[in-house]
Amino acid sequence: MYAGRFAPSPTGPLHFGSLVAAVGSYLDARAHNGKWLVRIDDIDPPREQPGAATQILQTLEAFGFEWDGEAVHQSQRSTSYDAALDQLGDQLYSCNCSRKQIASSGRDGPYGRIYSGTCRDKALPNQIAAALRVRVGPGATVCDDLIQGKYAQNLEQDIGDFIVRRRDGLYGYHLATAIDDAAQSITHIVRGADLLESTPRQIFLQQLLGLTTPQYAHLPVAVNPAGDKLSKQTHAQPLQIATANKALFAALDFLGQMPNPELQHESLSSLWTWALSNWSLATVPKKPKITVNDDHIQLA
Ligand code: GLU
Repeated sequence: MYAGRFAPSPTGPLHFGSLVAAVGSYLDARAHNGKWLVRIDDIDPPREQPGAATQILQTLEAFGFEWDGEAVHQSQRSTSYDAALDQLGDQLYSCNCSRKQIASSGRDGPYGRIYSGTCRDKALPNQIAAALRVRVGPGATVCDDLIQGKYAQNLEQDIGDFIVRRRDGLYGYHLATAIDDAAQSITHIVRGADLLESTPRQIFLQQLLGLTTPQYAHLPVAVNPAGDKLSKQTHAQPLQIATANKALFAALDFLGQMPNPELQHESLSSLWTWALSNWSLATVPKKPKITVNDDHIQLA
């Protein structure tokens, strides 16, 4: 059975960019008579904003999203992450390189610094003061994305051995995501294309752990008129419940669903009814066709 999910990090309130991911994953799940689950990705307490998780769930509810079951919190899932680290065994190694060492010994790759493998053969003890890295191998790891098409990375050349548990003991995003998507039996991951470059690392972990790879669909990423991705850093405006239908209309428009302009003045529930019966993944553009002035969505 189709199972989709929306997995916000509670680093702040939802903004238009998050709404696009929520709407895309929700409509695709419901159009397939599937389940739609919400997961709070709270594995990084230092980045968390107090109260954001509750606020996110309240906003989703006020926007008319209906999720199946209780929201799962990654902060409650460490036993499963530890079990996965055990299972990965010799594929992992401890790394006590400092940022400085990594900066001076690695090389720049297409997605950032590539670790040179200094600790690969040191057999350092698995202690909490060291990070744990997973050894990657040669060859392509491929994602057949329903929107973006074929996307491949050679992890050895493009990424390098990556961290699955940080030196402060926190779990890596790729590990937690691969484990939880499998634990929740997610069949379809519909999320922003800013995460496309993360996908081969998640597929690689799925393969090592014998987990099924879900179908991916990466949505265009909402950008502001200056061309920056909407995020807390670029001061994306929090979604306002008072103008939920306007924001939902804009999200549908952004996702290439071509809602009739008259729907802008309809109630939230009429918009959802229209969206659920007209959803088409095939018309979602790869890249944004419109920029979003999110001040305008909320304030007008
Ligand atoms: N928690 C991640 C984020 O908010 C998304 C994770 C995912 O969809 O895989 O960026």
